[in-house]
Amino acid sequence: MRQESKARPDERDARAEPGAQAEQQRPELQAQAEPQAAAVGGTGPRRVRRNVPVIDLHDVRKTYHVGDISVHALRGISLRVERGEYVAIIGASGSGKTTLMNIIGCLDHPSAGSYRLNGLDVRGMDEDALSDVRNRQIGFVFQSFNLIPRTRALANVELPLSYAGLPRAARHQRALAALDEVGLTRRVHHLPSELSGGQQQRVAIARALVTNPAMILADEPTGALDTVSSAEVMGIFGRLSEQGRTIILITHEHDVAAHARRMIRLSDGRIVSDERSETAGQNR
Ligand code: ADP
Ligand code: MG
Repeated sequence: MRQESKARPDERDARAEPGAQAEQQRPELQAQAEPQAAAVGGTGPRRVRRNVPVIDLHDVRKTYHVGDISVHALRGISLRVERGEYVAIIGASGSGKTTLMNIIGCLDHPSAGSYRLNGLDVRGMDEDALSDVRNRQIGFVFQSFNLIPRTRALANVELPLSYAGLPRAARHQRALAALDEVGLTRRVHHLPSELSGGQQQRVAIARALVTNPAMILADEPTGALDTVSSAEVMGIFGRLSEQGRTIILITHEHDVAAHARRMIRLSDGRIVSDERSETAGQNR
């Protein structure tokens, strides 16, 4: 496990001001995405990493209490994910993937340890604050798509922008652009029931990226799809990654995880391997 160093003051304050979130996905920032990049090139100013990690978990533990029994679902997870990384989290059933995803996604608090999401310490935040963080920082993609039925693709994608209070014309424009990114320009007025599973998941991906979140967090995104649709969806994640998006993919399928550039394996609540691959996904 990598030794975590304390954030330098420049890192700590870099994103504290409101509005900084909009800057997060600018391509020119992506050069900082590879964690090794800061270390290459010896001493001097280049060693200073200007951007905080998207995910910074330190010794995170989660214990569930069921009657008299304590279930240690996470037993000390320390993990940094830098901007622009494409990470798969893989592990057998019961290894802690969902628990970890709930914590990364600010859907649940750790029992112990710390979590900084994009430099923001989420410990102690109340439900309102967490829901705001989720809306602004995280684009969720679920196995079951979770689209709103009887609501057209465009309106489904606009929804997170309505929560964010964006005016109608801007919502419209951004939702169209997001649908274009997933290749659904010709399906924007379709209802979910008029779309294939793969197309519905692409709408869900458009909805996840329309707010320009710090990361896309996908939980078994191909779990409900046939082989062809799965390949389509993984192709989209690959393209989004190439554009510099940060993607966290949770899966129990090795084939799916192999598309990512970094594979983290969980077993019994611990990280047992963390491997990077330069060639991942090249055969898509
Ligand atoms: P995975 O998603 O990898 O299958 P989970 O995170 O769902 O793993 O579960 C990890 C461990 O925590 C398992 O032993 C599971 O039974 C337990 N667990 C998960 N959620 C709860 C809960 N709400 N209450 C009690 N135990 C739980
Ligand atoms: Mg699970």
